[in-house]
Amino acid sequence: MLAYTYIKKGHFALTEKEKPTLKDPSDALVRVTLGSICTSDLHIKHGSVPRAVPGITVGHEMVGVVEQVGTQVTSVKPGDRVTVNVETFCGECFFCQHGYVNNCEDPDGGWALGCRIDGGQAEYVRVPHANQGLNRIPDNVTDEQALFVGDILATGFWAARISEITEDDTVLIIGAGPTGICTLLCTMLKRPRRIIVCEKSDERARFVREHYPDVLLTTPEECKEFVKKQSEHGGADVVIEVAGADDTFRLAWECARPNAIVTVVALYDRPQQLPLPDMYGKNLTFKTGGVDGCDCAEILRLIADGQIDTTPLITHRFPLCEIEEAYRIFENRLDGVIKVAIKN
Ligand SMILES: [Zn+2]
Ligand SMILES: [Zn+2]
Repeated sequence: MLAYTYIKKGHFALTEKEKPTLKDPSDALVRVTLGSICTSDLHIKHGSVPRAVPGITVGHEMVGVVEQVGTQVTSVKPGDRVTVNVETFCGECFFCQHGYVNNCEDPDGGWALGCRIDGGQAEYVRVPHANQGLNRIPDNVTDEQALFVGDILATGFWAARISEITEDDTVLIIGAGPTGICTLLCTMLKRPRRIIVCEKSDERARFVREHYPDVLLTTPEECKEFVKKQSEHGGADVVIEVAGADDTFRLAWECARPNAIVTVVALYDRPQQLPLPDMYGKNLTFKTGGVDGCDCAEILRLIADGQIDTTPLITHRFPLCEIEEAYRIFENRLDGVIKVAIKN
């Protein structure tokens, strides 16, 4: 089968591999019908994910059809359409029992697919702990509607959940890339008083204005002043930092009111400073990533119910054999791309 493979730092290639087989009774084999490219794939390509193993098939955003299941798999059966969760988790350890599945103690726990084990930019993928890692897609939900459930939408949903948003709040979201928009959609479900999105790219700001006209927009340069003017208590009640740029961490806590919650979803290339003397007395609560992706069933229900729609994010579509071109466009942010769908 065709599989997009991490060869070495700076180099991915479409290679021919054996179709995967079940290794463990809790595994499932999934025929991938639709996949996507995530910024984390680019982090692997650029060598900034040391855990990533050369030779593995990349890709961790996908939906497909169950082809085969091990004897312990009870939640899905062959023929089921499913979303694949970016995280593998056992469901039984201390962390899983508390919903902290990102820190599952299993050897395959956390982000394994497309990083430490073969992922889904391929025709087939083996999914360990399939009872936890696969969710059935409701009949009235298409592959494109379900494509982001297991990764960026799970992240946005989790970010909104842990941020303890109330209907009185002014919520600032920094960054309107794909994960920022998923975070926005899930924040909207909490019906806060107002949502402000801070985005430096005109193109992305335009996308937000066009699709979510009730959201207020600002730029990093004007953000602090703008947020102050729009909030009752000198800053945002909740800040969710999704941009991960050089100065957005600072912006996040500076725009927060005293006693606010600052949720940092972003993954930074470099260490960030927590200048405690500057923030002394502000009494902030920081919450940090990565995602505990255990809300996929609930997210699928919300999609089926028409409450979440991420299909506008899919701006480009390619067959798997043209994935090189898809990466070129996604990596260089050409042609107004937000997300690409890779069809098998
Ligand atoms: Zn991802
Ligand atoms: Zn676990």
